[in-house]
Amino acid sequence: MNGQRCPSGPRRVARLIGVTAIAALLWTSCSDSGALVVEVGSRNLDEVDSANGGPDDAGADADNELIDDSDSRIPVGDFDDGFPLDSSKPGRSYDRFLIDAIDDIERFWADNYSKAYGGEYVELRGGVHPAYPGRDSDLPTGCQFVGNYEDVRDNAFYCDEGDFIVYDDDGLFPQFADEFGAATVAVIMAHEWGHAIQSSTRRDILYSFVTTTLELQADCFAGAWAGHVQENGLNGYRFSQSDITGALLGLIQIGDAPGSTAYDPSAHGSAFDRVSAFQDGFTGGVVSCVDYESNEPVPLQFGFTVEELSRPNPGDFPFGDEMFTAMRDDLVVFWEALVDIGEPWNAPDLLLADSRDVECATGPTISVAVGVAWCTADNIVVVSSPITKQYYDLIPGDFAVAYLIGIGYAEAVQTAIGSNLDASDRALLNDCLVGMWSGDILPFNTDPVVPDSETTPRIVLSPGDLDEAIRTALTLGDNDGERSMGTPFDKVDAFRQGVLFGFDGCFAA
Ligand SMILES: [Zn+2]
Repeated sequence: MNGQRCPSGPRRVARLIGVTAIAALLWTSCSDSGALVVEVGSRNLDEVDSANGGPDDAGADADNELIDDSDSRIPVGDFDDGFPLDSSKPGRSYDRFLIDAIDDIERFWADNYSKAYGGEYVELRGGVHPAYPGRDSDLPTGCQFVGNYEDVRDNAFYCDEGDFIVYDDDGLFPQFADEFGAATVAVIMAHEWGHAIQSSTRRDILYSFVTTTLELQADCFAGAWAGHVQENGLNGYRFSQSDITGALLGLIQIGDAPGSTAYDPSAHGSAFDRVSAFQDGFTGGVVSCVDYESNEPVPLQFGFTVEELSRPNPGDFPFGDEMFTAMRDDLVVFWEALVDIGEPWNAPDLLLADSRDVECATGPTISVAVGVAWCTADNIVVVSSPITKQYYDLIPGDFAVAYLIGIGYAEAVQTAIGSNLDASDRALLNDCLVGMWSGDILPFNTDPVVPDSETTPRIVLSPGDLDEAIRTALTLGDNDGERSMGTPFDKVDAFRQGVLFGFDGCFAA
């Protein structure tokens, strides 16, 4: 993280599309002194405890603290005969829907396999099996799985030896269906089906690619199926925004378990990469996933060193002044270097409010997100301390707070450059600008807008931070369109564009 290159001189001037002003991107001069880098968190998604209370005015509802699922109308019903073959299985609310989803996934592949690969799709030989304690009939075995419920607890997996899928019908699926909605379990099933497509019975690529490629392709396949359900429906039901949001939040929390080493659960990719893959399939269909075989995705997490990836949990700032100060200072350094309006621009200061509702002392209050306001008259971004604390605990992680503050500063930037965007277009550019800032403080960015130095110390991201940002973007999204925030799907996409492509990602024609 030290020794970042110190560039000099103006770099480029670019026109901001859809914006009335011209912004010049200029490098600040920099000194070459020693680095003072503050670490911003590295919480592991797998440690997420989403049972924590959530922001009650952040679009959450009583039975689900993470997402607003009021537009989800997934038909639920009891276990029906004929599937999954074991009459002793305790009934689950999602049984009926999952059975229909499995039928639909089969049909989807029957329709798409030959288009994608040529040849005929081969149906799953070993079937789909719910695992739960006290199950009467034996579970299939293979891939180091000997049929014990304990070995599939909190997971679902596909096994090539026997061509079957097993899922935890006692812990994982009921919990996820309750927490994120029934679409989640169907999307996890579609992901496992993706591994079946990769198996020796069908595509036969299971052992030809690195694990992350296989995992990301399975996520892409799951996205392709979800996109098909949104477009064509499943027994007349089309996925809503909150179905998709819930599915993504659930998907990024699990990796596959038992089974061969090909399914190393530690190598399923970061949330950032997994959501990207899902979105590829959702918008581009199966063909975009097939493309991974000739054009392997390079997970962003690969930019982190082994040492960075393996740190236990070093650097989450404790919630408090030091955290807010470090984030504000970095945002100020970054945006003052980038915004050129023909005269020096002073980035706003940050004010912490004790209340949940935030208001400007003078002039209009421009509400940017829950608990975040931009006060143009006073040149201040106001954030609610209790709401940022809830996000810090809920997501969890300090970069959830950075995201909220970041969109406050992004809104100030849009004001400064005379952006004429409004409603969700404006909100999505804010997400992209937060992504642009996040991309600048990736530790492997060799070309930051302002290099880290003694006079301008920069904060630096760790892998968990991007995942926190993804979860925050999904959670802030607007399922019903009433808050003009952009959909969760679009917000994540906008953030990703900013991280991956910087200025061009946010302002390209
Ligand atoms: Zn997988």
